Amino acid sequence: MLSSKLRQPIVVVLGHVDHGKTTLLDKIRGTALVKKEPGEMTQEVGASFVPSSVIEKLAEPLKNIIPIKLDIPGLLFIDTPGHELFSNLRRRGGSVADIAILVVDIVEGFQKQTIESVEILKERKVPFLVAANKIDRIPGWKVYDNEPFLFSFKKQSISVQKKLDELLYNNLVLQLASLNFNADRFDRVTDFTRNIAIIPVSGKTGEGIPELLAMLAGLTQRFMQGKLKFVEGPAKGVILEVKEDPGLGHTIDVIIYDGILKKNDIIILGGVNGTIVTKVRSLLLPSPLQDMRIAKTGYRSVDEVSAAAGVKISAPNLEEALAGSPIYSVDSDDKIPEFKKIIEDEISKVRFSRGVTGIVVKADSLGVLESIVYGLEKRNIPIRVADIGPISKKDVVEAELSAKDAEEYGLIAAFRVKPLPNLDTSKIKIIYDDIIYQLIDDVEKYIEDVRERRKRRTYDTLILPAKIKIMPGYVFRRSDPVIAGVEVLGGIIKPKFPLITEEGKRIGEVLQIQDNKKTIDKATKGMEVAMSIKGNIMIGRQINEGDILYSDVPKEDLEILVNNYRDTITDDMKEVIQELIKIKRAEDPLYGLTIKI
Ligand code: GDP
Repeated sequence: MLSSKLRQPIVVVLGHVDHGKTTLLDKIRGTALVKKEPGEMTQEVGASFVPSSVIEKLAEPLKNIIPIKLDIPGLLFIDTPGHELFSNLRRRGGSVADIAILVVDIVEGFQKQTIESVEILKERKVPFLVAANKIDRIPGWKVYDNEPFLFSFKKQSISVQKKLDELLYNNLVLQLASLNFNADRFDRVTDFTRNIAIIPVSGKTGEGIPELLAMLAGLTQRFMQGKLKFVEGPAKGVILEVKEDPGLGHTIDVIIYDGILKKNDIIILGGVNGTIVTKVRSLLLPSPLQDMRIAKTGYRSVDEVSAAAGVKISAPNLEEALAGSPIYSVDSDDKIPEFKKIIEDEISKVRFSRGVTGIVVKADSLGVLESIVYGLEKRNIPIRVADIGPISKKDVVEAELSAKDAEEYGLIAAFRVKPLPNLDTSKIKIIYDDIIYQLIDDVEKYIEDVRERRKRRTYDTLILPAKIKIMPGYVFRRSDPVIAGVEVLGGIIKPKFPLITEEGKRIGEVLQIQDNKKTIDKATKGMEVAMSIKGNIMIGRQINEGDILYSDVPKEDLEILVNNYRDTITDDMKEVIQELIKIKRAEDPLYGLTIKI
């Protein structure tokens, strides 16, 4: 049932490491705690609730500048800042987060993870505003603890005011413009649907916090009415984390973004090995510290929670619950299959196995897996398998299959997962990292390194194109090894080169080449030499006098030859290359596809 009631918007904090995300969140929580009336709960699981009464009180001095009367009940801040948790706040085609604060150190400006944050927010379609943090570090800044920014700003010297605006424009507005966002200091923005508001703050001194909260509340309730309408039906949510709690067993921390969740409700959620249907045993919220009776587990049990809320769910069969998975409650058993299907469809989009040559990605949660896959695909790194859980025999086999086609893809990218015991991973590379973008960077670097190493292979180690003819009447030995006179028709032939027939069949490799009884290390077009050939063949069976043979040039060697040693390719070798491509394409349609000769 739709009511006119609005729910609290869900707010996340993102930004570069050390730019002050944690400090800012702590300050917001601390400020709320000081300003709240007794009995107004602020603590939830994985999130903190700041009631509207607090925001209105804080913004009271600003009422002539930012008039706000709040219809939303408050703001729900996700407690853990950063990419990893944000990834798990996934929802079909977007995020459970309604709005984000992008924290940027005003002195340092945009850094790598700031840009990545903007990208991930764009990808998940989450609007954001910018907290230009650490304004107290601007040389000459005089601190006015917890004051609105506009008040503190007015009391600064002209040179400090100028410096702030200079940093704001050079380090933030211009950077955002280069990412195609129009932005301005919040008090100079006239159209908030077109411009991103930048609010100068200090997480340390609390300056600017009133405006930050007022803008968050004001913008969300003005522009997100539809999304924030409170629905009195069954709950919809997302699993933030799966935990094992002392005295509780396996529990899930969940953000409910729609509806009401009650004790004993049937819930459906994604698991590592398929969807899980279970029943809520208890709904848990942090207990106030003073309550000694229930402080044992640290939680108190409630009968229901309504959106938006962060809550811990205790229920049977949660061992395999999947972080980042949707969770739904249903009011009748008939609806179970429908919701099971919704969850399965959504999860199968993120977990996949394709028959392509590419890397294997394993992660411990759905949201992170999705973000890694997105990041890799943006860098054109092909993915063969994307899945949840520890690295298994199957993953290793898949990586080995990729490696056969291209060594650089014989790789497993592992986010917070390990190989199962006694697994032989010696033939492939595994890259571990607990930071999404670090993992992506490392994977890209590894792939480039392998390619670079290959490129640096010297001319002497390449198998070169060659075409030879077994001269009729010059067979000295029919097998083991074959010894015969051959004429080089084109290219260069050397010992150890593998040989194929005109049909592309491998027959063995060159053992030795002699010219006038002297052993030589190569023979070129026009030469007639004696050659011994090792292999399970016999002249008169697999090959005959007068047959034409080619050297079996691997795809990579051909690419390196053409790309790096083009000037060594003679006209006769060029012809051999063209014939080789024809022969090899029958087996491998990609052979020689990328080269131009
Ligand atoms: P996070 O990695 O983004 O969560 O950053 P933190 O909140 O851990 O902050 C990193 C460092 O910057 C810490 O030493 C903080 O004390 C400091 N810091 C954070 N906010 C401010 C601020 O507004 N002013 C000043 N001067 N220091 C800050």
